[in-house]
Amino acid sequence: MHIVANFKMNGSLRFFSTVCEKVNKLNLRDTKLILCPPFVYLPIFKLTNRKVALGSQDISNSEDGKSTGQINGKMLQEFNIKYCIVGHSERAKLGESCKVVAEKIDNAIKNNIIPIICVGENHKQNRHVEILNQIRNYFSVCSNKKVVVAYEPIWSIGTGETPSIENINEIVKLIKSEAQNFKVDVTVLYGGSVDIKNFENLKNAEIEGFLIGGLSKNFNKFLKILKGNENE
Ligand code: PGA
Repeated sequence: MHIVANFKMNGSLRFFSTVCEKVNKLNLRDTKLILCPPFVYLPIFKLTNRKVALGSQDISNSEDGKSTGQINGKMLQEFNIKYCIVGHSERAKLGESCKVVAEKIDNAIKNNIIPIICVGENHKQNRHVEILNQIRNYFSVCSNKKVVVAYEPIWSIGTGETPSIENINEIVKLIKSEAQNFKVDVTVLYGGSVDIKNFENLKNAEIEGFLIGGLSKNFNKFLKILKGNENE
């Protein structure tokens, strides 16, 4: 199981120092934990636990230095960042297009960073059609590569609503079958309002882990989920 913590724009130096101390003490057997703090906090993580890795929340789509405010793959690599979230709906809201997301995926892969690609539909969109469009667009730059895909319905992010297990399974199947077509080595996660109450039920879906947002702010609760996962 993969568990990704997307801390979004939350936390502080003190918070992440504590997170680092706590994760170094974890005895994880079945879980690969990926921590994605805001960029500025990445270097404070001195990880000694080999089951824990760092991810960034974004990567530039450009390699041109004239990109104020952006961070490229080589820079991330220097800090031993193994993963990076791309295509999150909170960035799409800021105007990031699918084309830009595909360029970001490409940049991540070129720098040996595994992209955690977020896909999802809004309330009005047809789930199947929308995910297929996004996945085909993204997988076209991922042939023979290893990627993580998080199915995150936009209507589920931060709302407390989650899809049914059947609906999640339907999308997992779709992603896996496209992965075969494009020869992509994919790990499929679910994300969107995962919390202590719904976690046990969501584990019944045919997924390989979770992308957790809001709950990671309360790291003790987040740890409960991790421990629940280990008890399997
Ligand atoms: P949430 O966020 O867990 O707060 O719904 C998930 C995400 O934004 O990736």
